[in-house]
Amino acid sequence: MTKFNETGWNFDNSYAQLPKSFFTSHSPTPVRSPKLVILNHPLATSLGLNVQELQSKDGVAVLAGNRIPEGAMPLAQAYAGHQFGHFTMLGDGRALLIGEQITPNGDRFDIQLKGPGRTPYSRGGDGRAALGPMLREYIISEAMQALGIPTTRSLAVVTTGEAVIRETELPGAILTRVASSHLRFGTFQYIANWGTVKELRVLADYAINRHYPEVEADENRYLSLLKEVTKRHAKLIAKWQLVGFIHGVMNTDNMTISGETIDYGPCAFMDHYDPATVFSSIDLHGRYAYGNQPKIGGWNLARFAETLLPLLHENEEQAVNLAQDAISVFPELYHRNWLSGMRAKLGILNEEEQDESLMEELLQMMQEHRADYTNTFRALTFDTPEDTVLFGTPEFTKWHELWQTRLDRQQEPKESSQQLMRNSNPAVIPRNHRVEEALEAAVEREDYSVMEKLLNALSNPYVHSPEQAEYCTLPAPSNRPYRTFCGT
Ligand code: AMP
Ligand code: MG
Repeated sequence: MTKFNETGWNFDNSYAQLPKSFFTSHSPTPVRSPKLVILNHPLATSLGLNVQELQSKDGVAVLAGNRIPEGAMPLAQAYAGHQFGHFTMLGDGRALLIGEQITPNGDRFDIQLKGPGRTPYSRGGDGRAALGPMLREYIISEAMQALGIPTTRSLAVVTTGEAVIRETELPGAILTRVASSHLRFGTFQYIANWGTVKELRVLADYAINRHYPEVEADENRYLSLLKEVTKRHAKLIAKWQLVGFIHGVMNTDNMTISGETIDYGPCAFMDHYDPATVFSSIDLHGRYAYGNQPKIGGWNLARFAETLLPLLHENEEQAVNLAQDAISVFPELYHRNWLSGMRAKLGILNEEEQDESLMEELLQMMQEHRADYTNTFRALTFDTPEDTVLFGTPEFTKWHELWQTRLDRQQEPKESSQQLMRNSNPAVIPRNHRVEEALEAAVEREDYSVMEKLLNALSNPYVHSPEQAEYCTLPAPSNRPYRTFCGT
């Protein structure tokens, strides 16, 4: 029989040492017949896990929640959050933190099962997850990682052999999620609302220790924490915008302290450029539309800042001033990150004031002509403007000339610009129709080859290989807009 330590599980449980009100110890509910359907080999190896052992019966039992590996202390985390602007108590309703894996490099990662049965925070839910949405999270989170965007990762998906009831009966599954932590803005909101200031300090110190140890000795380390989180979110959201990623449910419980993207429910990538793009079926007013993401990022940071007030200064008014100053830089920070990313997408190696209008003009044209976001930048990268719908229009011809003159003003050789563009404009993104096609093959026909091929194309989006070409094609025109769903 396999021993767990042969698998390489090497757990520490620092979260379990925090005050009892932060979580509830709770075990997964065993499932009937677990079957491993996808395992992330490179991620497993980097975590110090043995791929063969993980695939064994006992290895899979752990990924299904049927066995608790030695050293693990499963728990559900308590948190709150603003959902579409409304504050509410939440918590891990269908997730359990199994433990923190200490990797051979000494790094610490949360290992979390998503879909392991009811927890004390499940409210009316069944605590379970369906196969399609778990595979979807796997595909998109791994694509984000490959695109160079901070994100939680996906280690494995197992099917449970049990059905989950949604609108219809669906095959049940459990995803193993890996994150540098699951601390959320909502974790702070929970303690700030229902805990003591002493507990809040414990949480903030824990977050600093885990994610921002460099500010530990600062005079006002809680203010530094706020500033650093602000910086990371300015960077993160700029990266989303630059690849056309729409998170879809930017509730404060889905914003991490680490600055990693989390909660791949209703997210999707934009095809034609339009700031009003919304995919989520429940986002009726477009609160989380593509073009609103930076503004919502700022709003969420304000909610996080509020939780820290008692730690920032003993005088409330001064605390508020400090918090406001710290987060007021967010729009500018975000914009600077976006500008430098957009310069790279256009092969611009230095800064000129007019660059911004060059970008705005391009985006304006793309919006008017419903130009595909990813493919337009790809065509510019490979100097094939005839591949975009903008080609032939007088305004694009004029813009293209202006852009070329801009690049000609640079001292560096043309190849440097091209290289920068290749590294900044992905060949492939997880296009909605390709993701759906992969999920359908997996869920309807237990054929995982379509998904594996897609994952392979997504694993190196900046290599621009011939095999990736087929993933650049757009879906056939449809009258029905693409729709995504939360909590499925
Ligand atoms: P989300 O929209 O995924 O951020 O989830 C919001 C809240 O609903 C979180 O507290 C989840 O744990 C909870 N939740 C979502 N789906 C389920 C489910 N099937 N069973 C129990 N809780 C759930
Ligand atoms: Mg969530």
